[in-house]
Amino acid sequence: MLKLSQPNISEVAIEAVVDVLRSGQLVHGSESDEFERELAEYLGCCEVVLVSSGTAALHVALQALDISRNDAVIVPDFTFPATANAVSVCGARPVVVDVSSQNYTIDPELLEEAVRSWSGPEKLRAIIAVHEFGHVANMAEINRIAQKYDLFVIEDAACALGAHDQGTKAGTFGSLGCFSFHPRKTLTTGEGGAISTNSHELASKMRALRNHGMVRSERGMQFSEPATNYRLTNFQAALGRKQLPELDDWINWRRSLVQEYAIQLQSLIRAEKILQPEQAPGNSWQTFMIVLGSQFDRDSVISSLRDYSIESNLGAQSLSSLDLWGEQSPSLKVGPRLYRQGLALPLFERMSLKDVETVSSSLAKVLNDR
Ligand SMILES: *Cc1c(COP(=O)(O)O)cnc(C)c1O
Repeated sequence: MLKLSQPNISEVAIEAVVDVLRSGQLVHGSESDEFERELAEYLGCCEVVLVSSGTAALHVALQALDISRNDAVIVPDFTFPATANAVSVCGARPVVVDVSSQNYTIDPELLEEAVRSWSGPEKLRAIIAVHEFGHVANMAEINRIAQKYDLFVIEDAACALGAHDQGTKAGTFGSLGCFSFHPRKTLTTGEGGAISTNSHELASKMRALRNHGMVRSERGMQFSEPATNYRLTNFQAALGRKQLPELDDWINWRRSLVQEYAIQLQSLIRAEKILQPEQAPGNSWQTFMIVLGSQFDRDSVISSLRDYSIESNLGAQSLSSLDLWGEQSPSLKVGPRLYRQGLALPLFERMSLKDVETVSSSLAKVLNDR
């Protein structure tokens, strides 16, 4: 079976984890400190705060900006539910805006319309821009709108470590950038996450928020506010550290695989059986998702591909379609279609160009048979 995705853990990385286990320093320690420093350097931001998952990163980021009851936060329709769940868990209301069919990220025009016409009882406080699958959202426009209406920008860069727009890394455009190191992401520590920021003040606040609200002073341990434990372990940090120097090479190989997909899928695209996403140069391609024409039943295509020993899956969810976060605008169109017709194809470092050809020709057989 050709898998949809596979973590890329080297023997060297495994050794590094085992070394930490032998050392006995399992949480807090030099691996965590160094990983934070190296990530900040890689991203080109002042500080990085490690946490236990991408969802924890979103929760801590929202808490750091004091988002709570009576607040509303804009989120894109097409994303993993964690983006909206984090807002709900803070007691705030997620307001869903539709996405672009070109790169699956929030549509700036619809965003501005939603902000301008906001009339809910809650105060609109922030926008979460999601860099879905490694496609960098239109941050120039999003920041412009946020500035105009005095909103915070949080980037959900869970899928986008290493993605950039003209050299500026995803996660460093807004106030706070949230990353995930789940095994489905390109760099993984099992579970894990991080928050990037250029504000030392927010970084200190987030260090307390991930650690029971604890701050150290001359008088010893102080507890500043109620908070939870969202720490990453030292051995997970060691695992992440060994992957970071490889990441750009991995992303470059992913770009080559996607270019090959674009070539191999040309005839299906021309026949309007599928649509492919925009290929921006800075995309980190955590996932390659195409969109099937409405004549196809996506789940049955997934099952036919399985008969060719190829694993595929839906891409992400449509928040308005799941209907878990209160009433949303009834006019959403693109997100629901991506949720229904999106098909994620295999993409990981150990795949070959030949594998891409195999997937593409199998997909052609499946679709041309219908
Ligand atoms: C994976 C993902 C998350 C959640 O990250 P976890 O580490 O699994 O908690 C949040 N948002 C997006 C867009 C994701 O893809």
